[in-house]
Amino acid sequence: MNWKELLATKYPWLFNSPPWRLKEGEDENKRYPVCIDVDDGWKSLIEDLARGLDDLSLKVSPEDLNMMYVVQIKEKFGGLRFYMSSCTEEMYDLIAQAENDSYSICEKCGKSGKNRTGGWYKTLCDEHARELGYEYDED
Ligand SMILES: [Zn+2]
Repeated sequence: MNWKELLATKYPWLFNSPPWRLKEGEDENKRYPVCIDVDDGWKSLIEDLARGLDDLSLKVSPEDLNMMYVVQIKEKFGGLRFYMSSCTEEMYDLIAQAENDSYSICEKCGKSGKNRTGGWYKTLCDEHARELGYEYDED
């Protein structure tokens, strides 16, 4: 199981769409793990965010929590985008912080990185910027 599947297993309320989104006739126990479409360098960032959201979920009623789940996780312009169906203000702040932090973490390896352009925007460390043909600082 990779880290993305592991997250979906650890926090099913967050990473699986709820049963009412199933098509008619489908098993109610069947759930759909959300696609986490980012590279492995952001593993810790997303794991920490998920843990934080899970802590905050304890303050939410089961009815409300049923309406809260991840819709999509992806990279855009070199930054993390973490979309939820709905969430509390505290959850929103936590997500905003993680999205902000992503601009200084290499998406490939997790080392300290910078937002760079090389046709596309991407947040990368010097090594990966060089390897992937993005701008980097010449020492
Ligand atoms: Zn890197």
